[in-house]
Amino acid sequence: MPSYSGDVELSVVVPVYNEEQNLDYLFERLTSVLNRLNMTYEIVCVNDGSKDNTIERLIEHHQQNPAIKVVNLSRNYGKEIALSAGLDYTCGDAVVPIDADLQDPPELIADLVAKWREGYDVVLATRRSRQGESWIKRLTANAFYRIIDRISHVPIPRDTGDFRLIDRRVVDAIKQLPERNRFMKGLFAWVGFKQTSILYDRPSRYKGETTWNYWRLWNFALDGITSFSFIPLKVWSYIGLLVAIPAFFYASFLVIRTVLFGVDLPGYASIMVAVLFLGGVQLVSLGVLGEYLGRVYEEVKGRPLYLVRESYGFDSSQSVKQKVHSS
Ligand code: UDP
Ligand code: MG
Repeated sequence: MPSYSGDVELSVVVPVYNEEQNLDYLFERLTSVLNRLNMTYEIVCVNDGSKDNTIERLIEHHQQNPAIKVVNLSRNYGKEIALSAGLDYTCGDAVVPIDADLQDPPELIADLVAKWREGYDVVLATRRSRQGESWIKRLTANAFYRIIDRISHVPIPRDTGDFRLIDRRVVDAIKQLPERNRFMKGLFAWVGFKQTSILYDRPSRYKGETTWNYWRLWNFALDGITSFSFIPLKVWSYIGLLVAIPAFFYASFLVIRTVLFGVDLPGYASIMVAVLFLGGVQLVSLGVLGEYLGRVYEEVKGRPLYLVRESYGFDSSQSVKQKVHSS
């Protein structure tokens, strides 16, 4: 892993997946903000297996400005892992993950840095509003934040994406977390440290389309919930009790009635209802077990989090190591 060298003050991490149209404008805005800050900086771009010319464009940018560094992953791993890879490669005293589509305004970095200088370890950028997103996305996002807030064992800040400033201390703590299932918002919350937040209005995407369809978001939500709560696993004992206790009394009643008054054949409806209802409940609970078990299996396999095809801009002794070593 690239070791901490101490000569970069601010690292910006950008996960990029099919963003060739956004790159020019992104770097123009980012560098103008960063130059005004008067800090030494690096921009670590992680190409997450893009299918367009993103990697060629990134390398061109790297050649023009060596502060722009490129990590090229071996395939598409998803944003959470791309971000983890980016964090591994940074060496700044503070790190700011930012989206390539300019939904996180780079101008805000100045405010994040100002708060950091006041002594905070984590400065969150919380969305005051979301533009260019359908009501149904907003509704589901809201529901998700509410549910995870209720059942998670660490408080996960609402309406906060990955856009934030994190101190080197926190980056090192995150790097120690070995799990493959990287629900970054949750991991950032889990490590704690001194946190504060600033508010902003989230604009819509500059160019291109989001890759997060509802199926992907649903799975993302499941990842979040399963890695930060056991409630879906535990709730079945209580549901089971709730069904079993009345069933016991009903069974006793039936036995006594049969003994006293003889066999009474009609009752098909009640049997069917009980069988179907219990069958359904059992299948759902099995499904929940499966969600957790699949994730346990994923962790147990212990595969590296990601593989790097090549990297540009990290010094050579490091990049040799980076090629063989991952996660
Ligand atoms: N991204 C990525 N890998 C993926 C999907 C997305 O690295 O598989 C990056 C993408 O390039 C962008 C950021 O993650 O910089 C956020 O993606 P997007 O704008 O599609 O998500 P949204 O803003 O809709 O949540
Ligand atoms: Mg976006």
